[in-house]
Amino acid sequence: MADELTFAPLGGVGEIGMNLSIYGLGSRHKRAWLAVDLGVSFGDEEHLPGIDLIMPDISFLEKERHNLVGLVLTHAHEDHFGAIIDLWPRLKCPIYATGFSAAMFEAKCEAERKPPKIPVTVIPSGGRVDVGPFNVEFIPVAHSIPESHALAIHTEVGTVLHTGDWKIDPMPIIGPPTDERRLRELGDAGVLALVGDSTNAVREGRSPSETEVAKSIADLVKNARGRVAITTFASNVSRIKAVADAAKAADREVFVVGRAMARVVQVARETGYLKGVQNFRDPDLYGHFPPDKVVALCTGSQGEPRAALARIANDDHPEVTLNRGDTVIFSSRTIPGNEKAVGAIINGLVGQGAEVITDRTHLVHVSGHPRCDELRDMLAWTRPQLLIPVHGEALHLSEHARLGRAAGVPKVLTCRNGDLVKLGPGAPGIIDELQNGRLYKDGTILEDAKSRAVIERRRMAFAGCIFVAVAMTEKGELADDPEVDLVGIPEKNTAGEAFDDIVFDVVISTVEGLPRARRRDPDAVAESVRRAVRAALGQQWGKKPLCLVHVLAV
Ligand SMILES: [Zn+2]
Ligand SMILES: [Zn+2]
Repeated sequence: MADELTFAPLGGVGEIGMNLSIYGLGSRHKRAWLAVDLGVSFGDEEHLPGIDLIMPDISFLEKERHNLVGLVLTHAHEDHFGAIIDLWPRLKCPIYATGFSAAMFEAKCEAERKPPKIPVTVIPSGGRVDVGPFNVEFIPVAHSIPESHALAIHTEVGTVLHTGDWKIDPMPIIGPPTDERRLRELGDAGVLALVGDSTNAVREGRSPSETEVAKSIADLVKNARGRVAITTFASNVSRIKAVADAAKAADREVFVVGRAMARVVQVARETGYLKGVQNFRDPDLYGHFPPDKVVALCTGSQGEPRAALARIANDDHPEVTLNRGDTVIFSSRTIPGNEKAVGAIINGLVGQGAEVITDRTHLVHVSGHPRCDELRDMLAWTRPQLLIPVHGEALHLSEHARLGRAAGVPKVLTCRNGDLVKLGPGAPGIIDELQNGRLYKDGTILEDAKSRAVIERRRMAFAGCIFVAVAMTEKGELADDPEVDLVGIPEKNTAGEAFDDIVFDVVISTVEGLPRARRRDPDAVAESVRRAVRAALGQQWGKKPLCLVHVLAV
């Protein structure tokens, strides 16, 4: 039987974030696997208290480790490469990336407390590499970070175009525009399947160019009277250059505020992406310059509480302050889930008297993802036999699918994380489901999303916790008064009775109400007390806290 070419997303489909795609080549019994990207999502405090990062469950790849020929990176955004440091030790496969992505990864490793040694093979942008039976070609595309690539994955069964994150920007500030010529050539030669970015499939038209954003930022900086602070994603080197040029034109110095920003600036300088751009200054000199001579380039556009902008908004930054008449530009879009945090920072800045400018009123940000007309262009250039929308929530995927059908793509297939899709030869379709899921990074530990820790923390955050200790004699009598401790629970009920006393009484009456035989069984006592306490709190408070009962036999 001829080899099959298959595709499975293990993250990034039905959600934006934690991208991981795998391609398989071989028979049902033995396939060689190629992984593309290994990214993270960010937790939100309300639903996942204490969880900073979410990663794809890679147990399938761990089992298939000996058939995993390599991991190829499209670009250095966290949703594409943020999980490598944590998960690569379980896979230990070769990694391939272009120079900027590799340098970003190295800088990320060096920022760790114990910098890991993870080798990356550098492939030139536009170059090709054999990875097992796959020949992978890195095709430059415009995006919001240098060196984003669509991957043409050439196999004996056919060529798949994995678009990665892209847009069409005829005038990107940094790097080449999307390589239309090469994409058309691929279309001429025949594309079996296109696995493509759906992030902006709900937006008609075309995304504006980075060059237009740069003009708008330059105008704002030129017309500003006081200090200017600008926040953007640290990895957006085009935007950093736009800010540098705007500052230069207005005879202002650029101060880099925030470690992540300083790290990217260093990588961008080392890799030649800020050639000819003036030197930036460290924030310790910020206070020595008059207000109309400074531009602070800050981290924290998503409201991250420890980042520079949050500290400035709280008047808590050691070097950088703002006053009445100063201007703050959010050269960013708020990622869903971060609205409250960003709103709080904007209110803090406005409270300090600063004027806050966002993309709601000014062209100070554009997305790095293709809108509908750009998606149509890509399909027209590459003419794939099959379209599989990825990198999006359910709505984005279905809109991308609809657009593909309307554009005349012969077959459009939407799938979910874990679906194993046969691409060819013959009719494509979903043929299996692979193990998939999520891992949570909890402090320094990686936990299965089904583990108790987060579920219990969420319940504790909602309704607190009650600890009960009961000492029982051998005969099944209470040896002493029970101990009760209440955490995160109101002091009194609406009648003014203390919950401490209520719980205490419930414990005693429950134990004494048990038949003697059951009172001699510590587990039975604990379970009865737990149920009774929760029921009583439910009745008197309307909430059922966690309840932990220890029964000691004395
Ligand atoms: Zn992405
Ligand atoms: Zn990206």
